[in-house]
Amino acid sequence: MKEATTPNGRRAAGREQSLGGWLKVAGLGPGDDALITPEVSAALADATDVVGYVPYVERVAPRPGLTRHGSDNREEIRRAEQALQLAATGHRVVVVSSGDPGVFAMAAALFEALEASEPAWRALDIQVLPGISAMLAASARVGAPLGHDFCCINLSDNLKPWALIEKRLRLAAEADFAMAFYNPRSRARPEGFERALEVLREACGPERLIVFARAVSTPEESLRVTTLGEAQPDMADMRTLVMVGSSHTRLIQRHAGGAERQSTPWVYTPRSVSGAGS
Ligand code: SAH
Repeated sequence: MKEATTPNGRRAAGREQSLGGWLKVAGLGPGDDALITPEVSAALADATDVVGYVPYVERVAPRPGLTRHGSDNREEIRRAEQALQLAATGHRVVVVSSGDPGVFAMAAALFEALEASEPAWRALDIQVLPGISAMLAASARVGAPLGHDFCCINLSDNLKPWALIEKRLRLAAEADFAMAFYNPRSRARPEGFERALEVLREACGPERLIVFARAVSTPEESLRVTTLGEAQPDMADMRTLVMVGSSHTRLIQRHAGGAERQSTPWVYTPRSVSGAGS
């Protein structure tokens, strides 16, 4: 990682500030533009540069005065340094993530880069703008599966060992959390999700509810509600958010003849667990 190279960093920082640059790390929501917050839209309208993974940068319409810097998925730290550098030289920079930037996304990468970079950059005007994370969009679609205590786990072992994922799955199941899983299954490591389903089946039993919510709020959206006993690994891909209920999570079948897009049953987790207050 790059070390501080600017002598007299504080003065340099003052100069950078006066250039009027800023950096905002923004979440674009799960896909539908209607789910982008007005705060994020305003930041994008005022930006000179948008930085991020190519498909997210492409969600921002080109316009004169805006430079879009798309990069590869695995280049988070380099991308964060580029954004800091641009802001330090007077650019108004929005780093874009899907969903919320603080959930398995660019905000933490930005702070990692900031911590390891020149101290002068710590004087920059940096803000994180929240977005609607995939688990919130997905749970809203099916009802309220995350209506009581829940946890969320990234199933990718790119940045952590598989043994830790498995440990967290077991302990979350033992604590009877509802669970939301990001990055469930990639073509590079399809066996991971298969193993995760085995662990969950063992810990929660075959009747436990599981929801596969794919490409929520986009034209390719699909929802599937089933049980761990029926779940198959290929029901998930990298555009799927998977949720597993707690032992209290239940179904409400919809009345036949309802709206067509409402063909899946409602799934919800009650707000209380018996014994409360005792
Ligand atoms: N920062 C993002 C998550 C990035 S990790 C957020 O807060 O939503 C990428 C993972 O998010 C995907 O593998 C998938 O599990 C989930 N995801 C992102 N968009 C989604 C969508 N529209 N529908 C379902 N899952 C989605």
